[in-house]
Amino acid sequence: MNLRDKILLVSAMILAVLVCVLTGLSALSLKQFSLYTAERHARSVAETVKVGLTESMINGTIKMRQQFLLRLAGIPGVSEVRVARGPAVIAQFGPGLAAENASHHDVKDVLSTGREIFELVEINGEPVFHAVIPYVASDQGVPNCLQCHAVRVGTVLGAVQVDIPFSEVRHKGRIAVGLVGLAVLVAALAALALLQKLLRPLSETAEAVRDVTSLAVEGDFSGRVLQRSSDEVGGIALNINQLMDFLQREVGTIRKRVGELMGFSSDGRGNQLAHTTELVEGLVQASQFKQAIEEDQTKVEIYQRLADLMRGKYGVRRFSIYEVAPSKNRMTAMSIDGDPAATCRHCDPQVMVDANSCRARRTGHEVNAVAFPGLCTMFRPGAEGDTHVCLPINQSGSAGAIVQMVTSREEGDLASRLVPFVSVYLREAGPVLEAKRLMEHLRENSLRDPMTGLYNRRFLEDYVGALVNSSQRRKSAFSVLMLDLDYFKQVNDTHGHEAGDKVLKTLADIVARSVRSSDIAVRYGGEEFLLVLTDTGVEPALMVAEKIRAEVEGTKVPLPSGILQKTISIGVAEFPADADSFWQVVKYADVALYKAKAAGRNRVVRFLPEMWDSAGSY
Ligand code: GH3
Ligand code: MG
Ligand code: MG
Repeated sequence: MNLRDKILLVSAMILAVLVCVLTGLSALSLKQFSLYTAERHARSVAETVKVGLTESMINGTIKMRQQFLLRLAGIPGVSEVRVARGPAVIAQFGPGLAAENASHHDVKDVLSTGREIFELVEINGEPVFHAVIPYVASDQGVPNCLQCHAVRVGTVLGAVQVDIPFSEVRHKGRIAVGLVGLAVLVAALAALALLQKLLRPLSETAEAVRDVTSLAVEGDFSGRVLQRSSDEVGGIALNINQLMDFLQREVGTIRKRVGELMGFSSDGRGNQLAHTTELVEGLVQASQFKQAIEEDQTKVEIYQRLADLMRGKYGVRRFSIYEVAPSKNRMTAMSIDGDPAATCRHCDPQVMVDANSCRARRTGHEVNAVAFPGLCTMFRPGAEGDTHVCLPINQSGSAGAIVQMVTSREEGDLASRLVPFVSVYLREAGPVLEAKRLMEHLRENSLRDPMTGLYNRRFLEDYVGALVNSSQRRKSAFSVLMLDLDYFKQVNDTHGHEAGDKVLKTLADIVARSVRSSDIAVRYGGEEFLLVLTDTGVEPALMVAEKIRAEVEGTKVPLPSGILQKTISIGVAEFPADADSFWQVVKYADVALYKAKAAGRNRVVRFLPEMWDSAGSY
């Protein structure tokens, strides 16, 4: 029930009570008044009877009193008048007329007690005001009672019974009460109608405010309240409308700006406020994300963060993150469903070796198969109804990485709905990934020899600390091989510097191929190489050295001027058996190399302590 109905109902109830009380009160007072009037009337009649009888006694016509009494009963408004003699009068003058006997018990009561009776009774079904009034002896007045009656003052001489018909009074009274009630009712209804008229603008405004504010709670600020008056109620409508104008304008602006930042255009439907809050929240988190990934050391950590985001924040269980190697037209899986070691799962593996077969990579645009099914021919659904959205992470104008979200039929358009949110993160990740890629590239380049692709001396210097620590911690030996081409100077002299470079590259390839990925191959000097064979004692190291020596010896290097074959000398020393300082072991390997050269070249020599005299020369 609304407020207006409630007020009207309560008012109606109050007015109804008022009508009843007023009508009841008027009925009561009218009855009292009627009884009072009847009583006065009865007393008048009784007094008239007394005067009449006294006069009859004085004039000696008392015997004719019956006539007088009958005429009295004929007076309009009186139905019966009877006189009864009291015991004292009977004793003095005899019983009198038959009609003067105290026939009724109430008359007898009055004669014996002297107390008058006024009561409303029913006679033959009609209301009658019944009065019995005693005549009490008094010595007052001229003549007075004691002049004729031999009684004391206060003796009850007789009583008069006066019956007054009451039905007409009652009827008239009822009409009067009815009229009063009707008048009060009309007044109450008029008051109600007025109240309703006054309440209407208040209740209609209250309802409109309720509707407009509940729309606003749903994020819709388009509702307005009709201003019906210029009073306080009108003021409420005006203020609410101004508030809605303000919210609509400001929230709209924030939403538009945030939408622009996120590359997201709103259709204006749904909860504007909740949506905007969500977008702003997304932006803040994206900015925090950017800060976090800037502090990450490697690209792998950034890809891991993206994977965590997909699974944790957005609840995408199936997704792929590929990194593109632009110069090689290849892609590498960085995380598949959160597994950094997995390979391509939701695409044709061809995309790995031919990155341009990936539509998102090729175009640098979003590929949304939810909106456009079958857009990408490389997608491999895991189950019927699976679909996907691929988003490029753009770096310097082209896709440097691809993020693919895969959703099932049950998940509906989840991937599509996530696009604006995920895109924000990817936009933040793009430049950071590019910077990290560049840094890794630079670092890699600064630690590698550009001609052979092997590590350079600087890398070795950086690496030594970790190598020795690891070896000591694990109590594991490693070996150092020093390699130097025999008579290399001749190559340059005879075939030119370019031919020399080619021979050097060929040798570097042989060295790189001959060792495990955990071993370190370094271009140590011009045509000198250093190998660190981790977790390798001197015996197996000698075998590796011999293998390399033999392979170099057997390798034919084609040159414009003909086929060239070269040999190599190798010195081997072991850490920590030969020395517990890395650079000392390198020195010993160099000593062994020198011995190999001195012994005729094209050989492998293991360092022996006697090769190093106490003076530190060899
Ligand atoms: P051996 O080692 O057998 O005693 O004789 P060698 O002729 O090889 O003598 P050495 O090791 O002293 O010669 C080094 C030569 O290697 C000097 C230089 O001409 C050549 N060299 C060094 N770096 C490069 C390079 O980057 N490219 C070319 N083409 N030659 C280089
Ligand atoms: Mg040399
Ligand atoms: Mg040499």
